[in-house]
Amino acid sequence: MSSRTPLISGNWKMHKTIAATRTLLAELHKSMDGLSGVEVTVAPPFTALMVAAESLAGSRIGLGAQNMHHAEEGAYTGEISPVMLTDLGASFVLLGHSERRALFSETDESVSRKLRAALAYDLIPYVCCGETQQQRKEGETERVVSAQLRTALKGLVNQQANQVVIAYEPVWAIGTGLTATPGQAQAVHATIRSLLRELLGAPVSEVVRILYGGSVKPENAANLMSQPDIDGALVGGASLDAASFTGIVRAVAADV
Ligand code: PEP
Repeated sequence: MSSRTPLISGNWKMHKTIAATRTLLAELHKSMDGLSGVEVTVAPPFTALMVAAESLAGSRIGLGAQNMHHAEEGAYTGEISPVMLTDLGASFVLLGHSERRALFSETDESVSRKLRAALAYDLIPYVCCGETQQQRKEGETERVVSAQLRTALKGLVNQQANQVVIAYEPVWAIGTGLTATPGQAQAVHATIRSLLRELLGAPVSEVVRILYGGSVKPENAANLMSQPDIDGALVGGASLDAASFTGIVRAVAADV
């Protein structure tokens, strides 16, 4: 584990009604009581953000959203702006998740626009990147991930860059039960760290947290997090259950 404070974040995707949100957050309050040395955040669906903000008031669990539009307001039917998210108490936003890229035509350019908008409105962007199974087979992993991040981080100034969180999520490991081995994940994280060094300078590259995502479970979390450039996890399925999510947080907290 590095000297950076580990971060475990739950991406609830399109799950949880208002009542279910209240229940899960109440369970997390209890199960995480006393755990320290780790930052924990959750990204419920838009419809549950308001009730989640109420449930999390005074808690150490941070709140964020799963996506946003880059504009402050306007004729964008069905979209949500950065201002609306901060208004609800969100402190971060996931950008460029592979499901947004594959199912909703998100591109590196749109991620870049959203990243600059997030920072302008004091939202911490969690920028997602990752290769497909085919790209890994063809030995393209490092090239694909670097290209995604080069475009997404374009125009970022060093002062703001400290705020950014990167989430490396191999597409083939998301929701599949397949997980990158700690060695596979570390190799890509090290590539990302050296790209950050090139783009933003050494001091910033040492501060930015790089999360791993892709079927993280309580059973594999400690091994993944023991790698020097893996600073936490972005957790999908296992974040929907208090015991599983807390098990992942506990694995990291125990390492600190
Ligand atoms: C994700 O969607 O960000 C994710 C990592 O999902 P899962 O943990 O279910 O693989």
